[in-house]
Amino acid sequence: MIELLNKFYCNECESGWNYGLDVKGIKEMSLEKNLFNQNIKCESCGNEFLYFQGLINKLVEDDHFGTWEFIYDTQYFGSTNIVVGKEHKITLPKQVLITKVMLTCQDGFCSVAPNFHSQIESDSFGIVSSETDDEGEMVKKFGENLSVNWMVYGKSGNKPIETWVHLLTQVKEQIVHGQYNIAVLCSEMMFESFLDSTLNKLLISKGLSDGASYVILERLGNIQSKAHELLKELNGVGLQGEGKGTNPINTQWTKLVKLRNKIAHGDNVDLDKEKAKWALRTSLDAIFFIYNSCPLYK
Ligand SMILES: [Zn+2]
Repeated sequence: MIELLNKFYCNECESGWNYGLDVKGIKEMSLEKNLFNQNIKCESCGNEFLYFQGLINKLVEDDHFGTWEFIYDTQYFGSTNIVVGKEHKITLPKQVLITKVMLTCQDGFCSVAPNFHSQIESDSFGIVSSETDDEGEMVKKFGENLSVNWMVYGKSGNKPIETWVHLLTQVKEQIVHGQYNIAVLCSEMMFESFLDSTLNKLLISKGLSDGASYVILERLGNIQSKAHELLKELNGVGLQGEGKGTNPINTQWTKLVKLRNKIAHGDNVDLDKEKAKWALRTSLDAIFFIYNSCPLYK
């Protein structure tokens, strides 16, 4: 999960910050868990919060560019000179599934649009341009030169990262596409994937074989038993917190499981973006609660 660590967001003044450490820096300083629980003061408004809460804010907020950077993990960008009315080809360093191309006119205006196939891997795309009816000094006409900045977003395919992080990408993407029911399903699935992987590590750390751990997790179909009883037995603290029903994260998560079940069973559920974002936040809160309480993650 180290790749998620370098940005946080203040919900008070709605600004995002970079922690100023790259992934390599974080790894070298073995800061991961200390960093998570460090108190952060927002540079704009002075609001104080724990780093991991800022991180959750960052993952839930729906700033377009931040979300695209997260979902579409490959980016190329550059600047080029085009001739208005003549197609211009841009060659990329590698083949990629292009999802989105952003073009910005720099030293004048005309109509520009990217030309690419979104479902076929490609190492190039075209910029098509046309003069417009607008008049003015900055308006470029057919045959004139124009400087254009371009930015390509794409998907790199399978990456060797934890399953729950892949699912996080799915949730963000479904929210962008307005598929809030799938976003809620994936949010709960994301939590379950993280929980299973944590329980598996805990069982193995107690001396069980891979096979034995698999049988236990496979047969224990009830998610509450896993998140409460089994996690508590193995970790000392379950999602319910110290006493029954004392952890507000658990209260929210229980609601998420109910909502997930309704959707999975085909009930008619009225969902909107805010509800989907709540599901994502609830799942992340539960994941980070376990992450913080579990000595395996140091
Ligand atoms: Zn702030």
